[in-house]
This record gives sequence, C-alpha cells and structure tokens, in this order.
Amino acid sequence: MKKVNIITMGCSKNLVDSEHLMQRLKVAGIEVLHDARLDEATTVIVNTCGFIRSAREESLDMILQCVQAKNKGIIERLFVIGCLSEVYKKDLEQEIPEVDSFFGVKSMDEIIGLLTDGDKLISSNERIITTPSHYAYLKIAEGCDRTCAFCAIPHIRGRHVSLSMEDVEAEARFLSAGGVKELLVISQDVTSYGLDNYKKQMLPALTQRLCRIDEIRWIRLHYAYPLHFPSELLDLMLAEPKICRYLDIPVQHISDKVLSKMRRNITGDETRRLIEQIRTKIPDIALRTTLIVGHPGETDKDFEQLLAFVEQMRFDRLGVFCYSHEENTYAATHYSDYIPQKVKQARADRIMEVQKNISEALNRQKIGKTFTTVIDREEGDYFIGRTEYDSPEVDTEVLIPKAGAACTIGNFYPVRINDASEYDLYGQMVKKQS
Ligand code: SF4
Repeated sequence: MKKVNIITMGCSKNLVDSEHLMQRLKVAGIEVLHDARLDEATTVIVNTCGFIRSAREESLDMILQCVQAKNKGIIERLFVIGCLSEVYKKDLEQEIPEVDSFFGVKSMDEIIGLLTDGDKLISSNERIITTPSHYAYLKIAEGCDRTCAFCAIPHIRGRHVSLSMEDVEAEARFLSAGGVKELLVISQDVTSYGLDNYKKQMLPALTQRLCRIDEIRWIRLHYAYPLHFPSELLDLMLAEPKICRYLDIPVQHISDKVLSKMRRNITGDETRRLIEQIRTKIPDIALRTTLIVGHPGETDKDFEQLLAFVEQMRFDRLGVFCYSHEENTYAATHYSDYIPQKVKQARADRIMEVQKNISEALNRQKIGKTFTTVIDREEGDYFIGRTEYDSPEVDTEVLIPKAGAACTIGNFYPVRINDASEYDLYGQMVKKQS
C-alpha cells in the first residue's frame, strides 16, 4: 500500500488544507501520515509557508532535509505545495531540481491526480484531523481583500472567498460526528465572512448555526479584523454559552500615523472604542491580539504610544512580531525597511516584558475560582487542560496534578484554580465529569 507523509509548515489554515489532502488520499487507498519521520514513508509532501522570511526559511530547511533523505534513498518522491511554492515555484524548480513537482495553494486536484490512479470523488467537507480528536480548526474562507501594507497573503492566497454556510456546517457536523467538541473558527479575516457570496457579513449567522450542532461544546473565533466588526456577534456570545468568551482580534498598532502607513483603514480611537465596546458588553471576555513593531514610519514616540496602549488595555493574550520587509507587499514597493533589526527586537522585547506581568496579574485573578476545563493531554504528573478563555497551542494552560484526579482527554471538568504564573494556571478537579 502506498504511503505518503504530509509535513505541514505554517499556520492552522495550512493545516486544514493538509487534512483535506490526507482525507482524499486515504479514500483513494493511500496510507497517509502527518509530520512523521522521513523514513516512515517513501513519498513526502511538504505543505509550505511563505508568510514572512523566517517562515520561508523554515519551509526551505524542511525541503532541503527531504532532499537529503531522497539523495540517501530514504524517500523516493518529494512534492512541495503551499504558499512558498505558490509564489516561488519557478525559482524553486531551478534551485531544487530534486523535488519531483511543485504545486501552488489551489492545486490539490493535480497532486491527487499524480499520486492516485484517479481520485475517488468525496465530499470536500470530510477531512482527517491531526489535532487531538476533541478539537479541530474550521476554515470558513480563503484569501483576503484587505490592503495591509506589510502583508503578502492577498498576493499568495488571492481574494477573499467564503465557503457557503451549508459547506461549513456540513464540515462541522462531519468533525463533530468524529468526536470533535471544540471548533476553532479561522480564515485570514473572519469579519469579512459572507461579504462575497451573501453580500453581507454572515459571521454571526454562521456561528449561530454552528451552535445548533449538539455534540459541539465550544466555538472559538480567531482572526477577527477590527474594522466593521459585527457587534451583533457580542449579543450572540452573551446568548449562546457554546461560543467561548474569547476573541482573537489582531490590531497590529495604535498610532494613527502607523496604522495609516500599514493601510489598516482604522484609527487608534476606533480601535480603542471597539475594545471598550467589546469589554463593556462582555466584561469577562478574553482578548487575544497581535502587534507589529518596527513598521516603516514607526518612531520612538509611536512605539511609546503602542507600549502605553498595551499597559492600558491589558490584553489577556498578546503576540508581537518584528516588521519583516516582504516581497509582493505594498510596503516593499513604497517604503524602505530602515529601522534596524536590533531596534525592532528591543521594542518587541519591551512589549513582551510588560505583557508578561499583565498576563501573570490577570492569571492570578483566577485563583480561587472554578472554570470548566477541557483536558487536552497528559504530561508527566499532570493533566493539561484549557478554559474557554484559552485557545490551544498559543494560550495559557491549566495544569492539574494527576494524583487523585481521574479524567479523560477530551472531556470537560470543573477545575478550581489554586495558583498561577504568567502563562500557566494550576488547579484541582472539583468533582467528577459533568
Ligand atoms: S487582514 Fe491584513 S494582515 Fe490579515 S491576511 Fe488580510 S492583508 Fe494580511
């Protein structure tokens, strides 16, 4: 039986693509592995990331590792798909001829045709999940219509294309039938969901529809664009306990001048007002955001304004990136990347230093309280879980001593928090499974 090992680089959206590819290959009679050792399958597909330089380098490293394995006869065939290949196919074909074929982000049919004796038609809503079986990413759209100066994604992934509500619901039902209880709703920009195919924002309607799936316990929203954020979603969050009181909303900066240079089409005041509106409506909501420092045009004064914003807004979760001067972006053709990397890194470090203290203080406020916690895995002497305020792989985890605790991975339990650090909570089971 043919065996294919799919290696996924980059983001959760890429992971969903790999999972769909795995399902189609499996149905076509191929045994599929994910992120396995290179000697576990004779055919390897690397699903690459091309977002920023460091991510491209990681993908290139992985391709070259596979080339070495191929030269040693460990693997026979090597294919490259995904964002890096979408943009640099021609250069890569010349530079790395050991790769059998390079494919773009929209050529799943082609690679399936190449690997199978004719693809067996399956519903595109089915997929193999590679995350722990109780949670899965649910990609609701592809591409992006925004104009952020620093971002190459619209060039790589194309225009914003929403899946139909029927397709999204069908995929969610397929996942829940397979044991998924938590859906992580993703795309490049979930705020724009429906603007293309329904001519209006449909994220609230879609989320409500997902709430009707009995087996689904938690629905978590990621990648919300702040401009024109659908406030009716907040009412829905209040009304529907399945929707986690959690929102990932990248704001990138707060200085009007820098936001304008970034072409975010939103001002600092509008951003503040939105966050205040969200927090007024849902005081216990956990807000995750992402910031960029060192963008062309950012002065010390702009950075100090951003730092003060972080101190004042006290986000529950925050990630900061150093600006990366990316080809195929507006910034690459209109700005120069004159801020030294050392300065960018120092700014990022100052923000994370402040955020670390905020995160610890906010986590300490949870001591003595009981939270519904899903168990993700076992690790050493602990069960590791998360509350509704934390997304997998990026946010705070709850560590529960195994001693005296009997629980099942993927189930939800009331856990009383008795200690906290900047990025972890410690707790005890309150009572057996709810
Ligand atoms: S919203 Fe902006 S940063 Fe996000 S994918 Fe679209 S263009 Fe890129």
